Amino acid sequence: MVKLQTVSGCSKTIKKVTFYFSPHSSYCYQAGYESQFVALSKEVIDSFFDYILKEFAGRRKYITIFGGEPFLNAPQHKENIAYIIQEAARNNLEVAVVTNGYHLQEYMEILKSGKIREIQVTLDGTRDIHNKRRFLKGGDATFDRIVSGVDLLLENQIPVNLRMVVDRQNISNLPDLAKFAIGKGWTSSALFKTQLGRNYELHECQANQQKLYSRLELYQDLYALLKEFPYISEFHRPAFSVSKFLFEQGEMPAPLFDACTGTKTEWAFDFTGNIYACTATVGKHGESLGTFYPEVRKDAEAVEEWQERDILSITKCQSCNLSLICGGGCASMAKNYNGSLNSHDCRPVSELLGLGIAHYFNE
Ligand code: SF4
Repeated sequence: MVKLQTVSGCSKTIKKVTFYFSPHSSYCYQAGYESQFVALSKEVIDSFFDYILKEFAGRRKYITIFGGEPFLNAPQHKENIAYIIQEAARNNLEVAVVTNGYHLQEYMEILKSGKIREIQVTLDGTRDIHNKRRFLKGGDATFDRIVSGVDLLLENQIPVNLRMVVDRQNISNLPDLAKFAIGKGWTSSALFKTQLGRNYELHECQANQQKLYSRLELYQDLYALLKEFPYISEFHRPAFSVSKFLFEQGEMPAPLFDACTGTKTEWAFDFTGNIYACTATVGKHGESLGTFYPEVRKDAEAVEEWQERDILSITKCQSCNLSLICGGGCASMAKNYNGSLNSHDCRPVSELLGLGIAHYFNE
């Protein structure tokens, strides 16, 4: 998938485009998606660039590539990735990639030839924990190769966004992963940042819903861990809603009328030629908003429904005293929960603020 993102409609904005590859992966936990595999063609890539260069002309934008797994070690696949990265560079566009990090070494030369905004790599813990969760289909370990890949990226001045996907089974390993990253010297690099992702998907190999966190439960446990192991802050500083911003900037962020980026500052495109609002909707039946290949076509009514959604159009948000912090949440989640795009996806704003104020200000 390629994702394109902007910030609002002015000419200086950034638009993020996500290009979605076939969800083919060598990881066990993604095996359930493989039946959808269709090879990407140069023709589709050319049509993609034609479309975004015309449709978003004059707007700042960057491309995010992800799958499945974009960095597979197969010649045809590598050629396609190299072609996207080169075409992006030729058009002065930065590229971000979301990868499992297993084949980073094999892609270094290609990455060095492009304009790379960041590479997002996932580590779910230190060696034993990560290898238990993210192994190859044959059961082989992946941790050491990913760590070497992160080292290589930083050595080559390529920004890294390290993502730890957490649930109840691995959260207690966060202090050790933080210690590991600090020991590697990663956290002292200006090119290194982190994010914590909440595990909320039910994969074939992780069919245990009990271990999954709600958003609030995750932050409650994170708060307790930060209290016990303050050095985690060197590795990751959670937002706790707007608390971190308020602490670091000394003022509240701008009012958030719309937390959802879909069709406003973000679009997603898949390898079959479909256009979607965002990464959350890619590949879902009935969610395509048009095509960029083999023909350009847009469902104007569906696009308008996305673009008009904000806290003023959602009935429940209109009377909510947290609306300018929450922004109405995610449109795709709202539709999943309530059956309608133009509905609420409530965030536990007060509770997160309580935790964040206690963490950043009281301590
Ligand atoms: S908390 Fe719920 S009602 Fe309030 S703005 Fe967010 S989505 Fe709307």
